[in-house]
Amino acid sequence: MARIVMKFGGTSMAGTERIRRVAQLVKRQAERGDEVAVVVSAMAGDTDRLVNFCREANALYDPAEYDVVVAAGEQITSGLLAITLQALGCNARSWLGWQMPIHTDDAHAKARIGSIDTDELLASMGTGCIAVIPGFQGLTDNNRVTTLGRGGSDTSAVAVAAAVKADRCDIYTDVDGVYTTDPRIVARARKLKAVTYEEMLELASVGSKVLQTRSVGLAMKEGVRVQVLSSFIDENAPDADSIPGTMIVTDEELENAQVERQLITGIAADKNEAKITLTRVPDRPGAVAHIFAPLADANINVDMIIQNVGRDKGETDVTFTCPQADLARCTDILENQRDAIGYNRLIPDTKVAKISVVGVGMKSHAGVASTMFSSLADRKINIQAISTSEIKVSVLIDEDETELAVRVLHTAYGLDADR
Ligand code: ASP
Ligand code: MG
Repeated sequence: MARIVMKFGGTSMAGTERIRRVAQLVKRQAERGDEVAVVVSAMAGDTDRLVNFCREANALYDPAEYDVVVAAGEQITSGLLAITLQALGCNARSWLGWQMPIHTDDAHAKARIGSIDTDELLASMGTGCIAVIPGFQGLTDNNRVTTLGRGGSDTSAVAVAAAVKADRCDIYTDVDGVYTTDPRIVARARKLKAVTYEEMLELASVGSKVLQTRSVGLAMKEGVRVQVLSSFIDENAPDADSIPGTMIVTDEELENAQVERQLITGIAADKNEAKITLTRVPDRPGAVAHIFAPLADANINVDMIIQNVGRDKGETDVTFTCPQADLARCTDILENQRDAIGYNRLIPDTKVAKISVVGVGMKSHAGVASTMFSSLADRKINIQAISTSEIKVSVLIDEDETELAVRVLHTAYGLDADR
């Protein structure tokens, strides 16, 4: 017997028919004698709809009431899944975020989980009752409802898995695992049997939308075994225990598995970055701090930063990237700070894309970055900015060249599947 947390995303929960398929998968897992908790998202599109209602009601809505509204999507699907499971003859019960409860801080709309009360839940699961838990939801110390930020159900699932000490957390999505790159861009992309937590963290943060970044960080910290697999499988498909999806593993597990590893594990593209250039910034101590301190205060995440070589007049250009969603706030702040910073022009550019190659293999191998630069140069793709970490190299390019760049790099690093 094992204890398994299963998580189903919005596409898998969209409508009665699909919920019935989900219920079949859950039933199959429970029939193996496992204790099962299921974490569900709202039906695809429902959270967006609820967010819009809040915006229409008042553009400056109270985030605490926004949470009351948007948490409703998951309440609906958890109840519906419990009903459907019961119709299949299973013993099932829903547990809303406030009923367990899942304790969070009071950062409404992006709350963080502190702890989860599991005594009653575990007692119920121990009697063979399937627990159905709405993702995304939490409760503050003052008993106000919170939500965990968009895509937060993944984090709910991992947090529940950690709290009940699950043997595995299976995340069912509309893809059947993690690929070397987006299969819609590269037809010869390969599904990975395993990726390390670190790699998954980098891939999630640079635009591979399989898992919420925060959930991967939590899984890594808590040592939760996570598998990503497809919810669109028929009844004859291999069961989840045979690990048909992508397993997220530690570095050591990966080495022990002795699977043939490429230097690069995956390539991600992110079109949601914006580039800002400030021209003729005074080239003196403190100038850069004047730019980035107010952005940090406003919680704007700056990613790539370049300061060009100072020109003769003691001036320099500074270029950096931030999420496109923050661009308006960012330019607003910098325009207000114009005198303090002393720049000449502010040039925003949203027609950029960030391409990242990720792999633990690069810790011990040189030449990964130069392969990237020369492969792009061969196709005359211009690099506008570069950033690196121990296991990632990212470049900023023209958005129109995204697909070409991803294909070229996929081939250059030997990732194309054999045909
Ligand atoms: N329903 C929420 C959202 O769309 C949470 C989730 O599905 O992960 O962001
Ligand atoms: Mg999701």
